[in-house]
Amino acid sequence: MSKRFADRAVLVTGGGTGIGRAVALAFAREGARVAVAGRTEGPLAETVGLIEREGGKAVALTGDVTDGADAARLVRETVEYLGALDVAVNNAGVLGGLGPVADIDEAEWERVLGTNVTGTFLAMKHQIAHLRANGGGAIVNISSNVGTHMSIAGLGAYGATKAAVTALTRAAARDHIADGVRINLVSPGPIDTPMSTRPGESAADKAERMKGATPVGRAGAVDEVAAAVLHLASPEAGYTVGADLVLDGGVTA
Ligand code: NDP
Repeated sequence: MSKRFADRAVLVTGGGTGIGRAVALAFAREGARVAVAGRTEGPLAETVGLIEREGGKAVALTGDVTDGADAARLVRETVEYLGALDVAVNNAGVLGGLGPVADIDEAEWERVLGTNVTGTFLAMKHQIAHLRANGGGAIVNISSNVGTHMSIAGLGAYGATKAAVTALTRAAARDHIADGVRINLVSPGPIDTPMSTRPGESAADKAERMKGATPVGRAGAVDEVAAAVLHLASPEAGYTVGADLVLDGGVTA
């Protein structure tokens, strides 16, 4: 059976860890050549190693999506190393600015906003410019169920940034579908990565907390997010434009 992303070139931001790594591996298993981007070289090289060990092709690109020149360079280097760019997944993000709104530090607010909102904007801006000039493609952004679908006390900064990512993604989907660029987003609830683990919390304590935190009684797996991302990026989702696919085990059902 032919692989779903054979001959496709995919860029995944934040591809060195967590959800981004799982997304990169899933694309590679479906035949794609994958560029993984982030600020830290070590984890990116590990993802590349995992893909190469399975016989796939991947490249690590260091860059900071909050910097427009870096965001543009990540697109250029993906094309240089992989020969094309067909799909981009904007997954880079940070959880920060934790605490009640009145106590959020201004610099921390700017950092979270800069990474999650400006970073997603800059990444998309340069990816879309390339895709519309080269026959189109697909973009999948990673938002959160927090922000648009629900709020959590102490996550005001994070929720505000993710609501902005959702709004920006839907607007971009309308703006650029006529350019042949199909844009959608995934909004996960708690997924089993360090981001959803409380400081000092053991795996057993987290599993116990998650039993009550989601109707399905567990956190989501990174592979479940990856499966949704691949679906949205695939030709089978050709009629899906500006969709917000919530993956939260029923929390906001
Ligand atoms: P991780 O912290 O493992 O992944 C975040 C990745 O983003 C890291 O690889 C990090 O690499 C990269 N990154 C952060 N800032 C930048 C930047 N300025 N430029 C380039 N890369 C950057 O967390 P997760 O895998 O859990 O989260 C991935 C995404 O999923 C995030 O957007 C998160 O908000 C979202 N999400 C996660 C949920 C969860 O429960 N885990 C739930 C809902 C949404 P480096 O630091 O090296 O740059």
